[in-house]
Amino acid sequence: MFDNKNFGDKKFKYAAYYAVAVMVVVLMINYFATDLNTEQITYNKFLDLLSQKKIAEVQISDDKITMIPKSDSGIEKKILYTGRIEDPDFKNELKNSGAEIKPVVPNNDPIRSFFVTWVIPIIIFFFLGKIIFGKMDKKFGSGVMSFGKNNAKLYAESETGKTFDDVAGQEEAKESLVEIVDFLHDPSRYTEIGAKIPKGALLVGPPGTGKTLLAKAVAGEAKVPFFSMSGSEFVEMFVGMGAARVRDLFQQAGEKAPCIVFIDEIDAIGKSRDNAIAGGGNDEREQTLNQLLAEMDGFDSSKRVIILAATNRPEVLDKALLRPGRFDRRVIVDRPDLKGREAILKVHVKDVKMAEKVDLSSIAKATSGAVGADLANIVNEAALLAVKQGRKEVIQADLEEAVEVIIAGKEKKDRILSQHEKETVAFHEVGHALVAALLKHTDPVHKITIVPRTMGALGYTMQLPEEEKFLVTKDEMLDQIAVMLGGRAAEEVKFNSISTGASNDIERATQTARNMVTIYGMTDRFDMMALESVSNRYLDGRPVQNCSERTSGEIDEETLRIIKTAHERAIKLLNDNLELLNNIAQRLLDQETLTGEEFMEMVKESSAWNTEMEKKIEE
Ligand code: ADP
Ligand code: MG
Ligand code: ZN
Repeated sequence: MFDNKNFGDKKFKYAAYYAVAVMVVVLMINYFATDLNTEQITYNKFLDLLSQKKIAEVQISDDKITMIPKSDSGIEKKILYTGRIEDPDFKNELKNSGAEIKPVVPNNDPIRSFFVTWVIPIIIFFFLGKIIFGKMDKKFGSGVMSFGKNNAKLYAESETGKTFDDVAGQEEAKESLVEIVDFLHDPSRYTEIGAKIPKGALLVGPPGTGKTLLAKAVAGEAKVPFFSMSGSEFVEMFVGMGAARVRDLFQQAGEKAPCIVFIDEIDAIGKSRDNAIAGGGNDEREQTLNQLLAEMDGFDSSKRVIILAATNRPEVLDKALLRPGRFDRRVIVDRPDLKGREAILKVHVKDVKMAEKVDLSSIAKATSGAVGADLANIVNEAALLAVKQGRKEVIQADLEEAVEVIIAGKEKKDRILSQHEKETVAFHEVGHALVAALLKHTDPVHKITIVPRTMGALGYTMQLPEEEKFLVTKDEMLDQIAVMLGGRAAEEVKFNSISTGASNDIERATQTARNMVTIYGMTDRFDMMALESVSNRYLDGRPVQNCSERTSGEIDEETLRIIKTAHERAIKLLNDNLELLNNIAQRLLDQETLTGEEFMEMVKESSAWNTEMEKKIEE
């Protein structure tokens, strides 16, 4: 569809547009050039000027009288003209005026003006055009690889500027990809032993974990051509175009082998065809997908074309794509763990001036669940904050504030709360913190604040784990739920009234309790029965229930029981330590922010702190 001949047509079309544009510009220049220096006047005015002796030169042609005014006449225009009228007195007037009468030389003048107004500009435009077209040719024309055909970018090694060193915390993923790069460099090592390298590898993981970055790094490392295209680019406005693009892409790849083809966001074309029926289908996408499947079958890795693709929605991909012989290898690019997060932060602070004492590991601890893109964002936000404060380097406080900005939004100091609202928020937050401090299986409190944030929070309590946990026990989950409900519990204990402020706490507590029942098998009632299955671990999709309706009702009951118990525990803890709750809340109201240390000091000084708790710290 979109082969070279067509591209020739396209070039012709460009040339036609170009010619029209040139004509328009030339006409405009002509028009303005004449208009600026000449003016038409009436015959009367002409006679006036003559009698006032303001005219230096006159030229008379068959239909027009052209004149040049004297330089001291006060007339701005250089040339005036008027029509010619039968006027018997005219000759006398002309003589008397003293103006010089120039003969008309009909041949000389038009030719010169034709040259000046038409030929020279056209020659100039011609050369300009040649330069511009020359550049276009280089860009996607006959030059490197006739890339006018489609938008696939060919990354040379130097062009992406990314290497595996730029990708941190994804060691397993890197390992799989290194193998592929290695194979392209030196296939004999693999073929001698009889190993087949997979034809295609699919990078799978949540958004922002660095899939695209990894692919670019592969381009940087593999010293082979690297074709990259995004799935959405294949799905064109015109039916058939996407398929044609796939064909072109693979044709080019075949010519350039050994090489790598990377299709980013492949879900845009690779969506399961089963689902399409409901939405009326999408012929275009289906054609594109079929073409892709056909092309993949046409290649084998002995041809040394390796196909990489990335997606964050592997479950929507058409099964045909995942069949052996196509994307038969999956490279998981998961959320980074603690060490990974620290490594990613290190990569990103390289380009930023940092104070010497910054502790990246504590930032990594505070960002559980964050992906690479978030961490890059945090570092940049910290640098912006440092600039705002007029500092020359980023300090720890900038990074900490940046974490909060990314998690909770910017501080919103102009949000005005009434005194009672402020008190409610303060007691609510101290409620969370106190329950956390007084229960055994909880993370230490890192910070409590009642400075409102743009993302809706009026205050929050931040807990930080001492080390990363991969398993959560039942006791820990029960304590977590109690901490989540501690905010509301404090409102009840203190004011004997409740507010809307706990909605998010309630949601999270309910979800945790429910998961205990349905997913983690943590209740006696349902033992180890799987009642829900998670449909997509990468998007926050709701799990699917797989149980009878009666059981479903019982799940609700069981969930409620867990929540009620936790709620009562929180209330009892706070009631027993009402004085401490009051004191800390008062201090929080004064200071607006309490650090974890300030908070723990107050807790430890109080009677609530006993040997039992001391043990918890030591453990
Ligand atoms: P994805 O394609 O998985 O959605 P990207 O590759 O586009 O994610 O990542 C976006 C940005 O986040 C990258 O350009 C990079 O700055 C940063 N980033 C993500 N993951 C990592 C990582 N593992 N190491 C370093 N930087 C990362
Ligand atoms: Mg991406
Ligand atoms: Zn709360």
